[in-house]
Amino acid sequence: MKRRNKAQMYLDVLALHKEVTGSCILCTVRFPNGEKVKFIVDCGLFQEEKYHHLNYSFPFDPSEYDFLLVTHTHIDHIGRIPKLYKEGFKGKTYTSNLAVELMSAALNNTAEILTSSVQKNSRKKAIVVDSSIPLFDSSKPLYEVDDVSLAMQNVIGKEYNQTFKVHEHISVTLLKNGHTLGSSCILVKITYKGQDPIYALFTGDYSPENMFFDVNDIPSYIKQLPITVVTESTYGMTSKKTINHVFDELVLESVKNNETLIITLFAFGRMQEVKYKLLELQKKNLLNKDIKIYCDGKLSFKYDDIFLSHIDKLKISNFLPKNIFKINGYEERLNLLSDRNCKIILTTSGMGNYGPAQVYLPYYISRPKCTIIFGGYTAENTLGRKLQEVKDNELFELNGVMTKKRAKVYSINELSSHAKQEDLLDFLKKFQNLKLVLVNHGEEEVKENFAKKIVDDINPKNVAILSPNNYIRVGAHGLIKSYIANDLNFSNTN
Ligand SMILES: [Zn+2]
Ligand SMILES: [Zn+2]
Repeated sequence: MKRRNKAQMYLDVLALHKEVTGSCILCTVRFPNGEKVKFIVDCGLFQEEKYHHLNYSFPFDPSEYDFLLVTHTHIDHIGRIPKLYKEGFKGKTYTSNLAVELMSAALNNTAEILTSSVQKNSRKKAIVVDSSIPLFDSSKPLYEVDDVSLAMQNVIGKEYNQTFKVHEHISVTLLKNGHTLGSSCILVKITYKGQDPIYALFTGDYSPENMFFDVNDIPSYIKQLPITVVTESTYGMTSKKTINHVFDELVLESVKNNETLIITLFAFGRMQEVKYKLLELQKKNLLNKDIKIYCDGKLSFKYDDIFLSHIDKLKISNFLPKNIFKINGYEERLNLLSDRNCKIILTTSGMGNYGPAQVYLPYYISRPKCTIIFGGYTAENTLGRKLQEVKDNELFELNGVMTKKRAKVYSINELSSHAKQEDLLDFLKKFQNLKLVLVNHGEEEVKENFAKKIVDDINPKNVAILSPNNYIRVGAHGLIKSYIANDLNFSNTN
């Protein structure tokens, strides 16, 4: 029999936020010799307005953490990385090679938005803030372009499926994930002489497939490991069967009626997918190639270029439809408003509250010969959500102007890049020695119900829900215990 060191090695895991945005998982490894190594998985921005105040400080000391692992480059997973470095984090950040380039584009754009929104706010005299939320220092942006450069100097890109060491006793393997270009599921292996290894896999946001690239199955040796899986659960209670595939129909109907069709989209991923879908409609001769397609949003052009520069790694040879034109700047945007021809306008931002959508939406919402499609989720208090909530032909106030909603407005869910319930369960079923599932990244009720569903359908040894309140202690054979987190200081942030 192997002699074991007395002290058991463990990994403590905690999610900094109980809902979807502001993704940040804190991990502490304790080795039998007493050494502790701390790492973070993702460090995202809180995007819901009610949680904006949480962005301004960390409830932990960033200088105590040794390294950061990044699953993918959505801003709710990476948006606070420059802030982390600014607050004293000295470690390296590891992510996929592809994600490095995408991260730089996303963070620089975010720094610009943060800087310009501070300038706007300082011009307004009164900032209305709920009295329960402490006023943050709005004279300074969260971070600036220089902070992004500092952070990016510490980012290291890695190939998929190639195990690398981040510490003497900790190795990491990135597995290709269909959620976005460059996204990974991250396998962490913790070893120590005389102890069984701990394996933990972080799904990040997960999708088993992608329109632009193939996702190989995870290597079979991983399926055999005694493993803890930290899974997202955004659509944990949404079945694939409830997704309506209406995009093509809405586009063709609008064109048939000779309208202007506005589609608001996230710059990264969604924009390229919609361009590809329009190209497919043209190829099938369903969409007339003479209909002009305009696209607007500087960041989306940058992402188009990144996608094009990696086209050899993708399963498609092109995604740009025929007859597509870029709108460069405010003048061209205004000129387009007076164009009465049938056309399609693809614009950022997805939720309508940033970027050129702020020009198109207020103008076109009152036009009867117009259809507006929101290509994804729109959060509370965004222009996109507001335009969906107003009833047809209702008079409402928009930027101080009384406006009638005459355009047809739709929000579609078929472009989502998150796994639905069936896919998430299929993913978990791959693991033949599943010790523990930690449910993360979902609305509270969804997480709870999805956790029950996992117990019913898969029955791993244990299932727990990640939250900011408790650490889950994980050992080589799964759950050790759960205990209250009293080392985090939320007093500045709550
Ligand atoms: Zn994501
Ligand atoms: Zn996410």
